[in-house]
Amino acid sequence: MKTVQEAAKQISDAERILIVCHVSPDGDAIGSMLGLGLTLSEAQKRVILCCADPVPSQYRYLPHWETIARSCSERCDLLVTLDCSDLDRLGAVYDPSTLHDVPIVNIDHHTTNVEFGDVNWVEPEAAATAQMLVRLVHGLGISLNADIATCLLTGILTDTLGFRTSATTPEVMETAIQLMKAGASLPELTDRIFGRRPMRTIEMWATTLQNLHLEGHILWTEITQRMRRRIGYQENGDAGLANFLSTANEADIAIIFDEQQDGQVNVSMRCVPGYDVSQVAFDLGGGGHAQAAGCTLSGPLEGARTRVLSMLQKSWSMQNSSR
Ligand code: 5GP
Ligand code: MN
Repeated sequence: MKTVQEAAKQISDAERILIVCHVSPDGDAIGSMLGLGLTLSEAQKRVILCCADPVPSQYRYLPHWETIARSCSERCDLLVTLDCSDLDRLGAVYDPSTLHDVPIVNIDHHTTNVEFGDVNWVEPEAAATAQMLVRLVHGLGISLNADIATCLLTGILTDTLGFRTSATTPEVMETAIQLMKAGASLPELTDRIFGRRPMRTIEMWATTLQNLHLEGHILWTEITQRMRRRIGYQENGDAGLANFLSTANEADIAIIFDEQQDGQVNVSMRCVPGYDVSQVAFDLGGGGHAQAAGCTLSGPLEGARTRVLSMLQKSWSMQNSSR
């Protein structure tokens, strides 16, 4: 494991830096990418920001979100990956034919990170990649400004579910205070991230919640392409539904099976503290954190569901017997 100093040195030595986050980006991915991008622009670097999937509409309040490209053909001398536990998570943005000789600084907080970079600064105990980046901004000698702070506090808020996860330490709260003092508005960001959503999202939730399945201690539901077309819901992801399902008293594990346009199935897994879903997600080619993980499987939906449910049932039994 490498440290913030090594990441800062690689970045300081580079001139043209490509920053990439994971497909189906969340607030930590987008907030971290913009926060670091703005920091490096302050440091007079040429910065290219890239994500294979569009910026979700929910995060289009972030400063300069429209500078995030979907692909990059420009030559760069350093690739910084943010919030990605493996290279596949970069999606089509990672083109080995152009990027194979470009050094990689891998900055992440997923417990399943496979350390694919030349520098791997991976802190599984960090609440968010954005939390780690606040230290990098200081390490680079750049002062936090309101835009950088807004992006980074967005990342911390999203991944801690508003300072509610077990990763929320006093250090996280101290970082949040720093970001607020630099100009980020906690109430405004909290409202944007958790307090407002398109009505279509609520309609999508209403439809999927009519079809809940509790098998043992696993609660699951699915989002099909048919449902998406009928409701007109085309956003990536479940907009927080997996987190909501995991609040059911009866369930230790909650799962959403989300059928994609190309027939693949995105699987979102959640569990209560004391259990771990990241190992099953990793064994299925994905990854994540103990309490929140995911993977993408080939369809059809029914086959993917049977496979995941059977593995999670086994994993739950084993974890339960060793408690
Ligand atoms: P979500 O269910 O919110 O999409 O993802 C939960 C966590 O698992 C996030 O930290 C996310 O980065 C990770 N995750 C979700 N899907 C995948 C995947 O296909 N591969 C990897 N490596 N991580 C994933
Ligand atoms: Mn994250």
